[in-house]
Amino acid sequence: MRHMVSLYCRAHHASDGSGPCPRCTEFLDYAACRLEKCPYGEDKPTCANCPIHCYKKAPREFAKVVMRYAGPRMVTRHPWLALLHLVDGRRKVAHPMATRRRR
Ligand SMILES: [Zn+2]
Repeated sequence: MRHMVSLYCRAHHASDGSGPCPRCTEFLDYAACRLEKCPYGEDKPTCANCPIHCYKKAPREFAKVVMRYAGPRMVTRHPWLALLHLVDGRRKVAHPMATRRRR
């Protein structure tokens, strides 16, 4: 995610190149914070497959815009990461309630 936001930020917010601008940094902090609270933890599916929509509306819109821009560019900049994400995107996950019942 950080890779994608930096790609997007560099192209749209004209930061000085030292890293994402304050707005994007704030978004990344928010994303990391949500990730911590996600019941899937490290095993988190890609967002499209996540049955819980953990982002609030505004950051989710931002994430969508970033991904639409950076998604195709990830393939050329970070082919390995993009491939992993693609493979990960095919993984089906059970809803957390179902997981809990199984335990
Ligand atoms: Zn930015």
